[in-house]
Amino acid sequence: MTVLGQPLERIPISGPWITEKEIDYVTDAVSNAWYANANIYHERFEKAFSDYIGVRFSISLPSCTSAIHLSLLALGIGPGDEVIVPDVTWIASAAPITHVGATPVFADIDSRTWCLSSQSFEECITKKTKAVIPVDLYGNMPEMDAIRNLAKQYGIAVIEDAAEAVGSEYKGKKAGSFGDTGVFSFHGSKTITTGEGGMLVTDRKDLYDRAMFLRDHGRKPGDKMYRNTEIAYKYKMSCLQAALGLAQLERIEDLLARRRQIFSWYQRELVDLKDVTLNNEATSTKNTYWMITMILDPKFGMDKDRFIGLMNEKSIDCRPFFRPLSFIPAYKDLEQSQHARRRNKVGHEISRYGINLPSGLNLTEEKVRYVCSALKGILFSEQPVH
Ligand SMILES: *Cc1c(COP(=O)(O)O)cnc(C)c1O
Repeated sequence: MTVLGQPLERIPISGPWITEKEIDYVTDAVSNAWYANANIYHERFEKAFSDYIGVRFSISLPSCTSAIHLSLLALGIGPGDEVIVPDVTWIASAAPITHVGATPVFADIDSRTWCLSSQSFEECITKKTKAVIPVDLYGNMPEMDAIRNLAKQYGIAVIEDAAEAVGSEYKGKKAGSFGDTGVFSFHGSKTITTGEGGMLVTDRKDLYDRAMFLRDHGRKPGDKMYRNTEIAYKYKMSCLQAALGLAQLERIEDLLARRRQIFSWYQRELVDLKDVTLNNEATSTKNTYWMITMILDPKFGMDKDRFIGLMNEKSIDCRPFFRPLSFIPAYKDLEQSQHARRRNKVGHEISRYGINLPSGLNLTEEKVRYVCSALKGILFSEQPVH
């Protein structure tokens, strides 16, 4: 597969695993899911998803971002309220807080899980705190017991951002089932894809009803007279996406096994690198390794952007660990960002030295070996020759 040490094709950072089953379901949907059958694939996908996660209700949506937006709206969060979110996450976890007019408060992450630190969460709570959005970062799980106990104690709603963690578990319970709502992404890079798409799950009938109403222009489900009672939103998934999602969900065990296998290949190739930390998996947790990630010890003296550039020259796509939101231009000038930049030492350090390695579901053992030998070559070419 290599010519003079160069791979024939680029190794992408991420991507899905699509089979004949997905093609068959989407073909059936585009042929038949119209007229009286317009909703058959949504119904099957949502039912199968609820059963898989272990929740009462699932609502298929155009994105995970819209699922977070609807969760905040259904919980009645708005101007004057504060919502705690980890500083280190994708911007989609936090942007909907601004959409509803509330204030994001950026808490630090835990050095082991890379997810919301329960201690920092508690330190960030004020009288204005209405919700917390713990994020199951890169397929790992935060200390859910501690986070849920604090939320209960202070009367704070929990929106679990499980966008990167479908199939992950904490104490035998599925990611996405720990909050008042849980949200998932089916973006092309995520473990299950519908191209673009998302899901909101909940056990609470009141939140389900409110989200169903808000996602259809403020119309009660079943209202055939179009008497919208509020100005709301249009957040729906197409039947073609639902068919694709159903096929992917029916293959979830294969998709998760592949993710774990990819991680084990990396682990084996990098085991002798003592100063590199890979994704953690606590005994209480099942990690689904959405992004294989390494944290370089600062003693490598390797600049992260330079490392990514050198890998790029070898046709290997890497990404920087999420940068703290409090440092990126979009949030830089917020007052909350100033507090966060002072407070969140762990997130800043990990993010500075963290790199996502290729994690696509199309990876083979041979490609992982190529990636690992390339990265070792780069790391050690900077060291003195002996
Ligand atoms: C991908 C992602 C989202 C957003 O998902 P979309 O479907 O693109 O809206 C939200 N949170 C996290 C942590 C993500 O990784």
